[in-house]
Amino acid sequence: MKYIGAHVSAAGGVENTPLNAKVIGAKAFALFTKNQRQWYSKPLTDENINLFKENCKKEGFSPEYILPHDSYLINLGHPESEKLIKSQKAFLDELKRCEQLGLKYLNFHPGSHLGQYSETKCLQTISDSINWALSETDYVTAVIENTAGQGNNVGYKFEHLAQIINNVKDKSRIGVCIDTCHGFTAGYDIRTKEAFEKTFADFDRIVGFKYLKGMHLNDSKKEFRSRKDRHESIGKGFIGIDAFRFIMQDSRFDEIPLVLETPNSDIWAEEIEQLYSFS
Ligand SMILES: [Zn+2]
Ligand SMILES: [Zn+2]
Repeated sequence: MKYIGAHVSAAGGVENTPLNAKVIGAKAFALFTKNQRQWYSKPLTDENINLFKENCKKEGFSPEYILPHDSYLINLGHPESEKLIKSQKAFLDELKRCEQLGLKYLNFHPGSHLGQYSETKCLQTISDSINWALSETDYVTAVIENTAGQGNNVGYKFEHLAQIINNVKDKSRIGVCIDTCHGFTAGYDIRTKEAFEKTFADFDRIVGFKYLKGMHLNDSKKEFRSRKDRHESIGKGFIGIDAFRFIMQDSRFDEIPLVLETPNSDIWAEEIEQLYSFS
């Protein structure tokens, strides 16, 4: 079974996210548990936590299909130690917030070397950051997202994801989320059935489907291999609608959250309905 949703607003409190997901016909959702553009946010209150859990239960969302996303400020591969520590502490706080909410996953962008050291060194730093943060928490799984490779970001090749996973000690608490827009602009074509099969055969060989904990379903405003991260509504960008039909008709994408991060939230309900019509 497919679990489609969107990255919904947490305005007014995290407890509103399951309600916001329900009204668009979602069976999965993503959220920020704190302001994604600030380093510090108020701790979650007991009221936030209890209402969130209550609303998830009431609307039928279980933690397997909820994919929280961390702050955009965090860089677990930062080349400067003081700033790296700041990021690691913020990441730990995000993991703890997920555990407070009873959530299983935390989705994050791997990081950036900022032109100051090699990709390999950056990837090792990211694994070290994850190892430390996992050792300070109980059960939440860290879910690495592939990137478009914009600027100095790592994570735009499946090999990068594999290298991070390789150096994470507890393999039971590491996973990946594949963003279709990021993959496409990084050079993984999914526009035809042949290209789609090749991309995911490569993914399976290099990373492994067992690590796939979620997907971000986005079309792309930018061309193939542009290494730009600009999402477009489903079927309206350079990827096109066929790729999303292939995903919906492929059981390898069953039982994981499939989350829209498309720019026009007014049509999320229609996008979700259209995607379900393919399955
Ligand atoms: Zn994404
Ligand atoms: Zn993106």
